Amino acid sequence: MGALSSTNGPRGADEPKVIGHAVVIAGGGPTGLMLAGELALAGVDVAIVERRESQALDGLRAGGLHIRTIEVLDQRGIADRFIAQGRVVRSAPFADTALDMSDQPTRHNYYLALWQDRIERTLAGWVDELKVPIYRGCEVTGFAQDDTGVDVDLADGRQLRAQYLVGCDGGRSLIRKKAGIDFPGWDPSTSYLIAEIETDEEPQWGVRRGEKGINAIGKLEPRSREAGSLSSGEVGGTCARVVLNEPDIVQGEEPTLSNVREALIAVYGTDFGLCKASYVSRFTDMARQAARYRDRRVLLAGDAAHVHSPKGGQGLNIGVQDAVNLGWKLAQVIHGTATESLLDTYHAERHPVGARVLRNTMALTAIDRKDDRLEALREVMYELLQKDAPRQQYVAMVSGLDIRYDLGEGHPLLGRRVPDLDVVTADGPVRVFTLLHDGRPVLLNLGEPGGIEIAAWATRVKVIDAKYSGAWELPAVGLVAAPAAVLIRPDGYVAWVGGPGQKGLTDALTTWFGPAAA
Ligand SMILES: Cc1cc2nc3c(=O)[nH]c(=O)nc-3n(C[C@H](O)[C@H](O)[C@H](O)COP(=O)(O)OP(=O)(O)OC[C@H]3O[C@@H](n4cnc5c(N)ncnc54)[C@H](O)[C@@H]3O)c2cc1C
Repeated sequence: MGALSSTNGPRGADEPKVIGHAVVIAGGGPTGLMLAGELALAGVDVAIVERRESQALDGLRAGGLHIRTIEVLDQRGIADRFIAQGRVVRSAPFADTALDMSDQPTRHNYYLALWQDRIERTLAGWVDELKVPIYRGCEVTGFAQDDTGVDVDLADGRQLRAQYLVGCDGGRSLIRKKAGIDFPGWDPSTSYLIAEIETDEEPQWGVRRGEKGINAIGKLEPRSREAGSLSSGEVGGTCARVVLNEPDIVQGEEPTLSNVREALIAVYGTDFGLCKASYVSRFTDMARQAARYRDRRVLLAGDAAHVHSPKGGQGLNIGVQDAVNLGWKLAQVIHGTATESLLDTYHAERHPVGARVLRNTMALTAIDRKDDRLEALREVMYELLQKDAPRQQYVAMVSGLDIRYDLGEGHPLLGRRVPDLDVVTADGPVRVFTLLHDGRPVLLNLGEPGGIEIAAWATRVKVIDAKYSGAWELPAVGLVAAPAAVLIRPDGYVAWVGGPGQKGLTDALTTWFGPAAA
């Protein structure tokens, strides 16, 4: 029987036959952990069911955090935990060039190299502090939903009852399949072996382009494994992380050391005296996205909702951001302050973001191929990306900074992330992101103190009077007019921008935070 990893859940002989939670999350990877944290912060009784016995991962997987992900962690006051372990890289890769990201208008104008294992353990530490029960070593095997909730079956015979079930159970999501949600997209055009190996001879470090993609050998030292992201081109040592493009697409088969040997010989003419591999896996450039992120009381997030090539390093990042978009909405529906229709905005906002990531990874896969015409395309792109505006726009896109949810026409801030400005309140200077640490919405009034009155939402929305005289600069947009006030959702996106008067404020408050209290 799987164990509960925190102290506040039912256990042992006292455990009831059917255990109730408001929300059950299937899968405790990065997405499930982030969502659990968001819900717990909002006071929701949430539990995770996780197949793995511990947070340990086979292999390295994701190599770090993009800017917007660091920002959302900063909005909860936990970014420093990740930054302290990672390595700051001020450029984003594009094919075999690197694009400067240091001029993005954000406090965190860098990519944070940090392996997924560390990211997950750090998120798990936060979730543990928030006392979220995790049913570890436990697998969800099925579910049935009715008008009032979902019965969730576990492999050990236990059953959970929840108001909502969220599938954060990865690309092969059982929740998605059992919900009958289509997963349309593109079959793989190529497959790669990825391995951590030891060789007797020094391998050829660096990147070598092949017919259908790149091959890369990067030095793997205990230190770089800790900090994330291998840098190709380093010399010395015999431990390496290899990514090898396979001549034929292979799917489903467990790769072996022999496959790595054959692939090395096919590309380099030698296996460099390959003696062992601590990890061998395979990935493809398959790109698929769930047609719907919600089926009544069942929702999908992270890889369960979208899979694609790891090129661009966006998968984990958009999963964490899916969770931050969904968490506060689901919490309000559970608390009864908002109606279920709020959950439809989750699909409406996050599906287009996922579709754009699929598009980017498909473009990056295509441009990596060895072909004279693609070489010409790469050169055209490199030329364009020498110029500041296209480079800044591309970096903002891949970092998640240019996301704009469609909240209608108006001020450029509407639907975009609020910048982390240093404002001054009656209590002294404070960063805007600090105001979001408790996961509650904020109405930031930058005009006449006390000039905005929202008594009917006072228990749900914090009103902060503040002064700010600096510039408002948005990634990929530039300088924008200073607003008189902004309504900031718990995920950091601007739901309303105040001009003279409070036109549209009541509508925005009702849409996002429910009808006025009686
Ligand atoms: C080689 C490689 C390199 C990558 N590089 C990057 C990168 O640089 N940057 C980046 O952002 N992303 C990268 N990714 C993608 C990233 O690893 C994923 O996008 C990320 O792990 C998705 O997180 P998730 O929580 O949605 O799903 P997962 O991490 O897959 O977590 C799902 C969890 O659900 C559990 N589970 C599954 N089924 C059940 C069940 N029935 N019951 C209970 N538990 C279940 C699993 O054990 C797992 O813990 C890479 C992936 C690969 C393979």
